[in-house]
Amino acid sequence: MAELELHLAAPRGYCAGVDRAVETVERALELQGAPVYVRKQIVHNIHVVRDLETRGAIFVDDVGEIPAGATVVFSAHGVAPTVHEEAQARNLEVVDATCPLVTKVHSEAKRYDARGYKMLLIGHEGHEEVVGTMGEAPHAITLVETEADVAGLPDFGEDQPLAYLTQTTLSVDETRGIIAALKARYPWIHSPTKEDICYATSNRQAAVKELAKNVELVLVIGSANSSNSCRLVEVAREAGAASHLIEDETEIDESWIDGCSRIGITSGASAPERLVRGVIAWFEQRHTITSVTEIETVHEDVSFNLPRPIRRALAVVDPDVAG
Ligand code: SF4
Repeated sequence: MAELELHLAAPRGYCAGVDRAVETVERALELQGAPVYVRKQIVHNIHVVRDLETRGAIFVDDVGEIPAGATVVFSAHGVAPTVHEEAQARNLEVVDATCPLVTKVHSEAKRYDARGYKMLLIGHEGHEEVVGTMGEAPHAITLVETEADVAGLPDFGEDQPLAYLTQTTLSVDETRGIIAALKARYPWIHSPTKEDICYATSNRQAAVKELAKNVELVLVIGSANSSNSCRLVEVAREAGAASHLIEDETEIDESWIDGCSRIGITSGASAPERLVRGVIAWFEQRHTITSVTEIETVHEDVSFNLPRPIRRALAVVDPDVAG
């Protein structure tokens, strides 16, 4: 039994967009009763998805799987316009839980497209957010995944207006390198007025960087398909600590702890705080924990209103909650 200090990153866990998306499904279940259909995982966390499933949510990959006329919630990652069209064709009641910060990137893409720009979207192929954003202007957006990809991009002439956009959950440091390569190749490229990488992603990366300086091992709680959680592992490793992604305490390997005296814990933007408590309890059951300290790098105070159809329905049943 080792003597260990536990250090928790702050901020960690749920961001405002995830909080809103999860509450949207919960409210829809309360207001309408089960089942409530959700297109894709509402947020990329298996515990959240299972919990909502037990309460009556049905997750589908495609709106074609949903009975005509039913209600569908769109996930926090956003959808392409074609998905809205399909939903309309099936007469579905849509509750769009797309994070407002993802919607902002969609709006940028539409604005640039309307003005004749070509866009380079920095992101990961196949990620739902990327699929949704590219769907706004498929003819005008090219995906860039790495700095090396920049050399293989088309030779746009200087008379071609160009802009770059980014997925909201990328590594701030890695993206900086890709942007520098884009600016070197296309000096006239337009930058978004405000960075697309969201506040929650940047704050969690800054927090884990600070955490990693103070510990030997950083455990990041999150699912493997959670982009921002995977980036936290990379940032912790780059900052010099060993780091592993875990769904929950059952995935901790005792051998990781050998030789450690200070363990860092953080969680991705889609991981509920109860999973952090589970990991702390796991350590307390097996080791002598001398202290549990939080290292806070920035205080977060962001929240988003629930989607309009939910607010409207709440206003009918409970005007105080509707806000
Ligand atoms: S990680 Fe950022 S963009 Fe994604 S849901 Fe959270 S706040 Fe929105």
